[in-house]
Amino acid sequence: MFTYLRYPTIEAPKRIGATAATGAQRCLLRFVLNSSVAESKMALPSSSPYRYSGTLVHKTIESVRRGDCGDHVTPERLLAVWEEHLDSMEQEAKDNGDACWLPIRESVRQLERLRLWTARLAAGQPVHSGKSGPTSTEPWLENEDGTVVGRVDSVSASDGHLALRDFKTGTVLDENGEVLSDYRTQMLIYASLFRATRGQWPDSLELVDKRGTTAQVAFTTESAIEAVKQAKETLEKARSEVGAGGSPESFAALCSMSTETCVQCRHRPACPAFSKSLSEQGRVEFDQNTWRKFDLTGQVERTLDLGNDRYVAVIRCGSDDLTVRGLSALATFGSSSADIASNLPEPGDQLAIFGVAPARFSDTEPQLFNANRDATVYIVPSTL
Ligand code: SF4
Repeated sequence: MFTYLRYPTIEAPKRIGATAATGAQRCLLRFVLNSSVAESKMALPSSSPYRYSGTLVHKTIESVRRGDCGDHVTPERLLAVWEEHLDSMEQEAKDNGDACWLPIRESVRQLERLRLWTARLAAGQPVHSGKSGPTSTEPWLENEDGTVVGRVDSVSASDGHLALRDFKTGTVLDENGEVLSDYRTQMLIYASLFRATRGQWPDSLELVDKRGTTAQVAFTTESAIEAVKQAKETLEKARSEVGAGGSPESFAALCSMSTETCVQCRHRPACPAFSKSLSEQGRVEFDQNTWRKFDLTGQVERTLDLGNDRYVAVIRCGSDDLTVRGLSALATFGSSSADIASNLPEPGDQLAIFGVAPARFSDTEPQLFNANRDATVYIVPSTL
């Protein structure tokens, strides 16, 4: 358990990445906090382990393209590279405050299937040793003043045709068969940054999905320039609001709450808008059709120590008694050891519990919850 959190000083972001640009337009505060707070100090762990499996795929393909598996990629060499990157992903997750998702081998479903997919994709990659040149892997790209930046997964030139390509471990098309708008914006930004960095426009922008299918991203030079312009405006807005620094309370105007954005946000316990909403409603629900997740707050009625470093907490939330099972009594996450309370919560403590699932999916007003692996408990001080 951790004492409810307020980040001390927040820095104005200096630049904006292509992958962050669309998210920043949805909630500026989240962008500012993501830029300013080290991952290991964020208030919550990542909402899923899939970011690590995605990076694992990228790094493996990058290694193949760079020639780390030799000119002829054998399954044995590929497996060795995969395992090496998997080990480093596990370490990265630990360093990022994502120990709840360890081991990644167990928390990512169908990891072996993903490895086989990666092997197929990697086998078709051209091998080269340079980071720059006509073909290259993850080249650094930036606009003229270095405020908008990014790394596209690969640049390939063949028969005079220059393609920027990004690999995605999920789907890249929406239900209408159109490229997802976040990915489209990201690729438009890459195109314009490529022009600024290498002095040449690409001929095509391509997204490769988890089945190895390539989707073309239609673009014009005007739309690519516009995408970078908008990213830069977003950055400037954030910079002007933040000024020389301050606390999140002073940035309440930057918050744009929506369950779609907040569910992925690791700053919920430190966000003034979200904290206010949670304390007023007692519970915030994130309903994504195939899964439901809740954040709850209430006063502890009683706890039950299960004797396996897990406990049950019954909290009073409005007129309801809510029971949460499987909370971890071990401190595995927090901004500093000083924040960690070693005992179970006491009756009367006000708790904020993040990331629990209803015991029965279809209950409209669930009273019984199970803690997910990333469930995190904070004690809310009375002065908050
Ligand atoms: S919790 Fe929601 S409103 Fe607050 S910073 Fe995160 S995304 Fe923005």
